[in-house]
Amino acid sequence: MRVTGTAQREAWIAKTWPPVEEVRSDLWSVPVPIPDSPLRYTLTYLVASDNELVVVDPGWDTDAGWNALVDGLKATGASPADVTGIVVTHIHPDHHGMSGRLRAASGAWVAMHPAERHTLALLRAQGANMAAGDRAWLRRSGVPDEVAEELSMQSGDGHPFARMIDPDRLLEHGDLVPMGGRQLRAVWTPGHTPGHLCLHDEAENLLLTGDHVLPRISPNIGLQPHAAEPPLAAYLRSLESMASFDSAEALPAHEYRFIGLASRVRMLLAHHERRCDEVIEILRRRGPSSTWQVTTELTWSRGWAAVTGFMRRAALAEAGAHLQHLADRGRITATPDGPEQPEIFAVSP
Ligand SMILES: [Zn+2]
Repeated sequence: MRVTGTAQREAWIAKTWPPVEEVRSDLWSVPVPIPDSPLRYTLTYLVASDNELVVVDPGWDTDAGWNALVDGLKATGASPADVTGIVVTHIHPDHHGMSGRLRAASGAWVAMHPAERHTLALLRAQGANMAAGDRAWLRRSGVPDEVAEELSMQSGDGHPFARMIDPDRLLEHGDLVPMGGRQLRAVWTPGHTPGHLCLHDEAENLLLTGDHVLPRISPNIGLQPHAAEPPLAAYLRSLESMASFDSAEALPAHEYRFIGLASRVRMLLAHHERRCDEVIEILRRRGPSSTWQVTTELTWSRGWAAVTGFMRRAALAEAGAHLQHLADRGRITATPDGPEQPEIFAVSP
């Protein structure tokens, strides 16, 4: 793997701000800040052709984010009113959050994969029932009551998905982004989310990888009750599909650009393999266990004690995705003890 976004990487290490860069002719990367996140920024891409300007992943909706996006557009000689289209790799708030504000300022169409639109509608519909459904999930995962208290979502919380807009257009696998003079093809990569898209600029051989493949961190693959297939199995398959893009320069939505997708993919596959082995080892050591018990014993990069607040939910969902994957493969068994009881996992005899 070779880092090509060297200015981005230096900025990443120095914890400073990477520059707006023209990666190729008429294609720019713009860092848009994410509030209170170790990821710090989303790399938003601006792609121009004859008479069109498409923004990929506008970023998190804050005034600081908006100003960064406007400054990025200005650096290319454009303003928000010039934007003709918006494509989101997936609907997480650090990607799709600002789409509504940008569409209002420009009249641009917004495009995403159909599975992402479906997820958005489901998340929104959960609305008032969210707290109850969430409590049921925490109980089934074996989270102790006093911890569930602090982890559970309150229905009154401003739901980040409530304000997010629906797409005007859909992009299926293999579709071209509707813009003249530039071939930007959608590559469906479910896993991180059910409708995650990468975008391949065929002429320049660039792959916008969204959160599917990042150079340094492994994207969270958590349980997705609304997904059509188990997320980890989908993710591993989507990783394998990256092999054909090995010669492409990867333009991720976080961190920095690089070349060497196949080798990065091998590292990510090995990471999940190790994770599965670790889950089995924990079950061997402590006997039948709930998702919560496995979660607290797994290795976390900063240690479990540093995994707090919302990160604990992501950790629980990630452990759950690995347990489900192992159960689907028959390596472990799951014993549901009724809806009110935690699900218990054990190594298959
Ligand atoms: Zn992201």
